[in-house]
Amino acid sequence: MNGKRYDVIVVGGGSGGSAFCKRAAGYGARVAIIDRGVKYVDGVRVGAGAGGTCVNVGCVPKKLMFNAAAVKEAISPETGVAEGYGWTIPMDSVSFNWAGLKKKRDAYVQRLSDGYVNGWKKAGVDVYGGAARFADRGNGETPSIKTIEIENDGSLEVLEADRVVIACGGKPSLPPIPGTELCITSDGFFDLEVQPKKVAVVGAGYIAVEMAGILHALGSETHLFFRGATVLRHGFDPFVVTQLMEAMRSHGPALHANSTPASVSAAPDGTKTLTLADGSEFGGFDVVLMATGRDPLGSSLNLPASISLDNKGYVVVDEYENTTEKNVCALGDATTSGYELTPVAIAAGRRLADRLFGGEPRARIEYKDVATVVFSHPPIGTVGLTEPEARQKFGDANVAVKQSAFGSMLFAFNDPDHKVKTGLKLVTVLPTETVVGLHCIGPFSDEMLQGFAIAVRMGATRRDFEASVAIHPTIAEEFVTFG
Ligand code: NDP
Repeated sequence: MNGKRYDVIVVGGGSGGSAFCKRAAGYGARVAIIDRGVKYVDGVRVGAGAGGTCVNVGCVPKKLMFNAAAVKEAISPETGVAEGYGWTIPMDSVSFNWAGLKKKRDAYVQRLSDGYVNGWKKAGVDVYGGAARFADRGNGETPSIKTIEIENDGSLEVLEADRVVIACGGKPSLPPIPGTELCITSDGFFDLEVQPKKVAVVGAGYIAVEMAGILHALGSETHLFFRGATVLRHGFDPFVVTQLMEAMRSHGPALHANSTPASVSAAPDGTKTLTLADGSEFGGFDVVLMATGRDPLGSSLNLPASISLDNKGYVVVDEYENTTEKNVCALGDATTSGYELTPVAIAAGRRLADRLFGGEPRARIEYKDVATVVFSHPPIGTVGLTEPEARQKFGDANVAVKQSAFGSMLFAFNDPDHKVKTGLKLVTVLPTETVVGLHCIGPFSDEMLQGFAIAVRMGATRRDFEASVAIHPTIAEEFVTFG
C-alpha cells in the first residue's frame, strides 16, 4: 500500500460531493474528500473557497446580489412601486455601497465555506486540500484499488480507495472569439470591487439573464447581447419567455437581440468594445461579462482511459451515476446527467451514498419534474414540460393549457406603463388533465414554486388543483382558480 486507504475518495467538495461524503460517512464508510478550495499551509487551513461553485461563486452570492437588487427595485422610480404606495424617495440622495456589500457578502460566503469543512470533519470525513488527479490513466485496465494524487503547495500526497466519486463540477466557458482575455465571467463578477458604470453582458441563459438584471437594477448601464430573438431559448416555456422579454423591455437592461459576438477589444482609455458578427460595434464598457455557458472540469483529473467522456467533456454516467470504469462514480455538473443545479447534485450525492453504503441497491435520483428558478427580474419558476415539449410527447389533441397574465396587487398603484405582469401557466394532458408542466413568472414566483413542484411530481390533476381552496389575495391562487 502506497497511501492512506479509504473506502471512497470524493474528488470535489461542491454541493454533490459534500452531500455524498457526509451521508456515506454516516453509514460508517471511511471517506476522504478533496477540495481545491481548501488550502493548507504548514498544516493550517488558509483561504476561502471550500464548498464549490454554489457557495463561492454561484447561487449564494448571486442570491445576495439579487436581494440587493430587489430592495433597489422596490424604491426605484423606474418600477414605481414605492411611489405608488405614497413614498417620496429623493433618489439623488440615495446611494449604494457596492464595495461595502461585497465585503459583507464575502464574509457571509466565508462563513458558509468554513461550515462546509467543519461539517465534513464533524461527519468523520478526512479533508484534503489541493488539486486531485488519478495517479495513472490505466490503459483501459480496472485496478481494484484506485490511487489518487493530491497536489498542494508543491507537495504531493497519495491516497488509495476501493471507490472514487468524481464531483469536480465545472467552470465558466468563454466563446471562441478574440479578446476574451479582456472579459470577465460570473466568477469575475463576484470579484468586482467597484460597481461598473457601463457593462455588456453576453449570453442568453440563466447567468446572463440573472446578472444583467442585477447590474441593471443596481444602477449600472447594462446592455444584454444575445444571439437569438429572445433569451432563455432552450428549455423554457415560450409564455414565460415572452413575459420576461416584455418586462425587460419596459424596465430592464438594454436588449440587443440577434447579436452574435465576434471580438472584444480595448480602447486606449481602458474601456472595451464589443464587435458583433454583423460588424456593428458597441463601446465604452468598463466590463464585458461573458455568460455563454459552462464547461465540465473532469478532463483536468487525468481520468482513467476507461472513463468515457461525451464530445463536450462531460463524464458519461448511467442512471445510477456509474461511469464506464468499475467503482468510479460521478455526479453533478461534470456529468452527462443534463442538470447543472445544486439541488440535483445534492440529491444525486445522497442517493448514491444510500446505494453504495446504505444498503439500498436501487437508490438513485429520478431526473423527472426537476423544478428550477431563474432569478430574473421578475423571477421565473418552472417544473415539468413546456407546452411545445408536451405537444411533441403527447400529441396536440391530448394537451390542454391554462394560462393567465395579469398585474399583481403589488403594482396596483403603478401607472400602466410600469405594471409588471405576473404570468401563470398549466400544461395538462387529457383526458385526466394531469398537470405535466407548471410555469410562472412574476414577483415571488421563486418562493411559490416548491409546493407546486411536489404536486406536479405526485401526478396532480387540474381537479386536484381546483379542489385546493385558494389563499386570497395571493398570486399563487390563480393556479387553483383558473376558470
Ligand atoms: P446556459 O447553458 O444556461 O446558457 C448559455 C447560453 O449562452 C446558451 O444557451 C446560448 O444561448 C448562449 N451562448 C452559447 N455560446 C454562445 C456564444 N458563443 N455567443 C453568444 N451566446 C452564446 O449557461 P449559463 O452559463 O447561463 O448557466 C450554466 C448553467 O448553470 C445553467 O444551465 C444552469 O443549469 C446553472 N445555473 C442555474 C442557476 C439557477 O438555478 N438559478 C443560476 C445560474 C446558473 P443561445 O443559443 O440562445 O444563443
